[in-house]
Amino acid sequence: MIGTWIDIDLDAVKYNYAQVTARLTAGSRCMAVVKADAYGLGAAEVAYALQEAGCAAFAVTSVAEGLGLRGAGIKGVILVLGPSVSAQWPEAIQAALHLTVATPEMIEGIEQAARDILCEVSVHLKLETGMGRTGLWPEELARAARLLTEARWVKAAGVYTHFARAAQRDDRYTRRQYEIFERGVEQLAALGVTPSWRHVCNSAALLSYPQWHHDFVRSGTLLIGHYPHPALRGKISLRDPWQAKSTVQYLRQAPRGAYVGYQSLYKTRTDTELAVIPAGYADGFGVAPHLTPQGLLDLGKVLLKNIAAYCGIYLGQERVMIKGRPVKIAGKIGMQLTILDVGNGFCQIGDEVVIPLRRTLANPRLPRRYWSDGRVLCERRIREEEMNLQENTAE
Ligand SMILES: *Cc1c(COP(=O)(O)O)cnc(C)c1O
Repeated sequence: MIGTWIDIDLDAVKYNYAQVTARLTAGSRCMAVVKADAYGLGAAEVAYALQEAGCAAFAVTSVAEGLGLRGAGIKGVILVLGPSVSAQWPEAIQAALHLTVATPEMIEGIEQAARDILCEVSVHLKLETGMGRTGLWPEELARAARLLTEARWVKAAGVYTHFARAAQRDDRYTRRQYEIFERGVEQLAALGVTPSWRHVCNSAALLSYPQWHHDFVRSGTLLIGHYPHPALRGKISLRDPWQAKSTVQYLRQAPRGAYVGYQSLYKTRTDTELAVIPAGYADGFGVAPHLTPQGLLDLGKVLLKNIAAYCGIYLGQERVMIKGRPVKIAGKIGMQLTILDVGNGFCQIGDEVVIPLRRTLANPRLPRRYWSDGRVLCERRIREEEMNLQENTAE
């Protein structure tokens, strides 16, 4: 390829899936969370790869995302985790999406919508246990149970909750959430509602609380090769499927002592070659996230870095990789062009350059190239209308 793009290795996603499923207690399965376009990797491509690897349950936030997966040929369970509204139900039910029930009224509304089109629908009851987002409160369970036992078209396939602090070392809040969940499940059972599946664990919880795997774990972060917390690194080995790449598009000799880039912040130390790659701030390259310093030491580091940058010295400036070797970025990264000091005779026009682009800051307009079985599977550019959709939903 030429230009700048993202390589996504679906074999790494499958590897991570295998690592997760190998850790599950008997009888539990992995529901792959592919919301937010599979955390930016591409929902359809990731879900498709996981389906090939044997995954038969997926979760997304919105009905639109669920319909997108069905349209892409994803079979099995597709659970909509987020709240949905009446205008979305007919289409969601037709597509056999599993809907989350987070108020008793939703049971009545979904039952009505399902009856209108003579089509059964599976729902999962979401219990509010401490996340404070969506879910049935304990005092709503009796009414929900009554509505469910009266319903003809709505089937309670699952009951679940979501942890707010599963990645934290202090487990008291999580345990309290689990107790509230357990009590809720018991209360529902006493009222005649016994959903087939329970699921409570996200990525962090599935590693830390194996006793709660139940019928499904809902994992997204681990599948895309991230650790929910650095302390969990020892518990599972993951591969990062995501890599930003660019190519050398221009190469020239430069004498010793030549100034390079805006504000002449870089000066060559020897006769060398300078390469130009078509990547810069517009792609998210060189953009640093505004992180709040964690503790005094960190604050000191952040201050030092900023003072040095003010003086034109970039401490901890990341390097790009060419043919497996680290290469210096020469001077300031530009809007769309970056200069590299590559030394003599090391590289050619067309060489691939791995750039340290943060996934969360990468411009979603960058084309993606998918790898599977060690070969390029497809290339994909986000279409303009999808961009608009993403921008609208991001608000
Ligand atoms: C995002 C999400 C998950 C997955 O969380 P990870 O930490 O990425 O595994 C699970 N359940 C719900 C309800 C979610 O919103």
